[in-house]
Amino acid sequence: MAFCKNCGTQIPDGTELCQNCANQGAANNFQNAANNVVNDFTNPTDETGAFDPADIEATKIMSLFAYLGILFLIPLLACKDSAFARFHANQGIVLFIFGIIGGVVAVIPFLGWILSGAVGIFSLVLTIMGIINACQGKAKRLPLIGKITILK
Ligand SMILES: [Zn+2]
Repeated sequence: MAFCKNCGTQIPDGTELCQNCANQGAANNFQNAANNVVNDFTNPTDETGAFDPADIEATKIMSLFAYLGILFLIPLLACKDSAFARFHANQGIVLFIFGIIGGVVAVIPFLGWILSGAVGIFSLVLTIMGIINACQGKAKRLPLIGKITILK
């Protein structure tokens, strides 16, 4: 007979943790993931210091277009050499793709509609946050999607 290494409950031979501890672990992982998203909102990763202030000043207005759907092309084409515009264009593209996925899942009745609605609301919030960040000349990573890099 074996015992759970974590809590000492008797468990079948060949296993290390009891079901109780395994469930607890899964709940903790979910809790951590939820905390990370909340933390992204309240305390976003701010990389503004890594950009040239002159570049930010020159491109921040163009950069806000990155978050308006296909208009992410404007900062990409108009400010080709700007790292700051590229930072926002990258987030805009990821947000754009995220929105397309939200639209596609809407073909699935009920669950897809709910998911699509949730993606739509989340996208709208991120769009507003992105535009505000760009206007303020900040290079802040958006919650969840901001960690994805498509444009190097
Ligand atoms: Zn246990």
